[in-house]
Amino acid sequence: PLTGKTAVVTGSNSGIGLGVARSLAEAGAAVVLNSYTDNAEDHQLAADMAAEFDTTVRYISADMSKPDACRDLIAQAGECDILVNNAGIQHVDPIEDFPTAKWDAIIAINMSSAFHTTAAALPMMRKAGWGRVVNIASAHGLTASPYKSAYVAAKHGIVGLTKVTALETAKEDITANAICPGYVLTPLVEAQIPDTAKKYDMTEDEAKEKVILDRQPSKEFATVEQIGGTTVFLCSDHAAQITGTTISVDGGWTAL
Ligand code: NAD
Repeated sequence: PLTGKTAVVTGSNSGIGLGVARSLAEAGAAVVLNSYTDNAEDHQLAADMAAEFDTTVRYISADMSKPDACRDLIAQAGECDILVNNAGIQHVDPIEDFPTAKWDAIIAINMSSAFHTTAAALPMMRKAGWGRVVNIASAHGLTASPYKSAYVAAKHGIVGLTKVTALETAKEDITANAICPGYVLTPLVEAQIPDTAKKYDMTEDEAKEKVILDRQPSKEFATVEQIGGTTVFLCSDHAAQITGTTISVDGGWTAL
């Protein structure tokens, strides 16, 4: 159903971004993969995905912490019917110990990058007469946890940006929505397990079960395929009147 559309997915050589890119490619879209690295493996990933799904897949290196690089990514893509703002990092520390450089990097990558890519992509969507912006926010875009000040601030911010994007495009065939995943077992989450264990004085297994999945009533991690499927749904005709909102994929977290 997405044949003829070009999708740009930021931060997509790993985790949720990669899963979303695969779902979009499977649905027939041409895909642009991105991260800040420019390795042979990154380009191989694109070649393998193109062969697997019989579509065009390119890898474009661009550092989403840099405003110009965000805009250049979209310019280099040439077309952008579907924009998925997914690049994100995490850092966990109490506010008074939180390094300023980490705060700045998280705000830049997790929030401001979406402003810059959206600004560059909207004219292309308007020219094409169709567009979909899907921002990968988080349950932390709707609720908070201690020690994640920058992440929670950035994710609440991207939910706000999503609403403004929807209002500025409301009369056009363009929608903007945010997906709010609970915990998905990706490298980003696995990296938090040792820190979490240390903070709560637990083993890593205990931290996974009692702290991380404590917030997720289903007691199961969401999967990258489920986030990918939700993205494809938001790009479908059935979702044409869904705009400016959030869709939680969090096993009941935000119902608590
Ligand atoms: P991940 O670490 O597996 O993937 C992050 C991706 O972003 C990688 O491809 C990485 O290369 C890329 N990236 C990091 N810094 C970048 C930069 N400066 N420029 C370009 N790309 C950069 O993590 P993930 O769990 O897949 O996270 C993806 C998104 O989903 C993030 O925005 C994250 O906040 C969000 N999210 C994740 C979870 C979860 O439980 N994993 C839950 C809610 C939201």
